[in-house]
Amino acid sequence: MSDGILGKVVVITGASSGLGEAAARLLAAQGARLVLAARRAERLQSLIKALTADGGQALAVTTDVADRGQVQALVDGAVKAFGRVDVMLNNAGVMPQSLLERLKVDEWDRMIDVNIKGVLYGIAAALPVMKAQSSGHFINVSSVAGHRVGPGSTVYAATKFAVRALSEGLRQEVKPYNIRTTVISPGAVATELPDSVSDPDAAARIEKFYADVAIPASSFARAVKFAIEQPEDVDINEILFRPTRQDY
Ligand code: NDP
Repeated sequence: MSDGILGKVVVITGASSGLGEAAARLLAAQGARLVLAARRAERLQSLIKALTADGGQALAVTTDVADRGQVQALVDGAVKAFGRVDVMLNNAGVMPQSLLERLKVDEWDRMIDVNIKGVLYGIAAALPVMKAQSSGHFINVSSVAGHRVGPGSTVYAATKFAVRALSEGLRQEVKPYNIRTTVISPGAVATELPDSVSDPDAAARIEKFYADVAIPASSFARAVKFAIEQPEDVDINEILFRPTRQDY
């Protein structure tokens, strides 16, 4: 793996909006070759159009990260197009918060499937490629909610604690293969994430919180850039950032 970002093949899940889209835009401007994944194909296509019109190299693979076969096809597509995978950015996630007593069990299942299994499927697909290359970089997206639990965020926080736990285990296990691991834990960033909240009480609380404190998605993109552009012998393992106004 070379230093810097130019020419690196970066796979980004959840690239159709929010943090993933912002990271794609910044990395494309730095000369990364991008493979963008999400379920909304039209959104990905219009992003690809914008990035390639500006001279970037990018392709879209419509992917549901809760489906292991689709995540494998995503990574296979990256290898077919570009011959390697330098960075796997496991970013796709959902946050349908509610109190446990509301028993929104289907939403608990969805958070586990997307936020935990989706990250694991990304690791399962990209790890053999990176081992064979003797280089690579996993960037997994946790949250401030992966450090702190509050009422209504219990299951979401559990999934984000899990992302930190599996990222730390991954960090230790992949040392022999020259693979880097970064877990990024953002605070409130203005994206479409609150749209996944179906519970009216939680939605009102979150809407107010985001309106009061959220910062632009470019904050996340800069954190990703920082982790990737370090010299190969520097492994940025954890980044936690919040809006300056956010106390939680
Ligand atoms: P958005 O809702 O704007 O973006 C979420 C992305 O995930 C979309 O591109 C969506 O695409 C994708 N996604 C959701 N479900 C699936 C799925 N089953 N398969 C593939 N892609 C999926 O929110 P953010 O950008 O904010 O969220 C990105 C990550 O950042 C999440 O993991 C979130 O938990 C985390 N995070 C966000 C914070 C914030 O304040 N915004 C704070 C802390 C962490 P599509 O619907 O097209 O599939």
